[in-house]
Amino acid sequence: MRNLYIDFDGVIMDTITTMNRIMDATNLDKSDPIACRRFYETLDWANILAITPEINDGIECIQKILDAGVFDTAILTHVNSLDEIVEKVKFLRKYFGNITIIPVPKKLSKTKMVHAQDAILVDDYSGNLREWEEAGGIGIRFNLKLNGKGFRVINRLDQLLEMDLVK
Ligand SMILES: [Mg+2]
Repeated sequence: MRNLYIDFDGVIMDTITTMNRIMDATNLDKSDPIACRRFYETLDWANILAITPEINDGIECIQKILDAGVFDTAILTHVNSLDEIVEKVKFLRKYFGNITIIPVPKKLSKTKMVHAQDAILVDDYSGNLREWEEAGGIGIRFNLKLNGKGFRVINRLDQLLEMDLVK
């Protein structure tokens, strides 16, 4: 069975919009990389996940994918703090008892955390997908407007089940 890795932010939950909204409400200097890093490292993730909407029934779609039993599925998510890991795991465990959850320190490529060869990555960030394909994996972009930026593209996770990806 093929490994399927699903990104969290911007794929399952619309956390990027929430983080941008919180950032805009501060008077943070966005051109200051140290201030930006500090901002991301000190976010309150229990609060973020409590106020963030899900994207296109992401949770239900993952359950459908798990039920189909055609992929070895895991969540592969970049993180900026230990609090972010703890709260993302708590959140996902409310819905999924035994899915694998792999946090990746923001400074590392997702390809350094797992073996990308022949595995699928669903991600909204084309930079991650480019690295993934360079490492021999299959990149699928998640984009609400179906802008693939050169990758195959979906805007609902259960569309994976209609693609020719099973081996
Ligand atoms: Mg993302």
